[in-house]
Amino acid sequence: MVETSKNYEGGCFCGAVRYELTGEPDWSAHCHCRSCQRAVGAAFASWIGVKAENFRVTKGQIANCNWPGVERGFCGNCGTSLTYVAEEGWPGQISVLAPTLDDPGIASPTAHVYVEHQLPWVKLDDGLPQYEQFE
Ligand SMILES: [Zn+2]
Ligand SMILES: [Zn+2]
Repeated sequence: MVETSKNYEGGCFCGAVRYELTGEPDWSAHCHCRSCQRAVGAAFASWIGVKAENFRVTKGQIANCNWPGVERGFCGNCGTSLTYVAEEGWPGQISVLAPTLDDPGIASPTAHVYVEHQLPWVKLDDGLPQYEQFE
């Protein structure tokens, strides 16, 4: 069998956790919601969305912080935030923090979401659509 789809790799800061995606991300967006700000420790979080079956951990394991309905995955060693899973809202899907890809440039975010929580010192002028919540 010829493998036709491209794979992308990524991982955490310390290298304990490595993952692989099969194929292109389904979507990409910057999220300004308050929970992403806190969980990621940044002004906003840049995500790619992939089907769960197209994501696999190739080294180490992802630790999870569970919130009702939401699992935020991170490296238990260095603390890098890696993933977001919400089975109810986003069934069969896993969101991955784009900057943890070895080549974050392959993500091409198409929107800013939850700008209702955008920090006052973040100025956006990239021309992408901005949504109060998630559209
Ligand atoms: Zn790590
Ligand atoms: Zn968010």
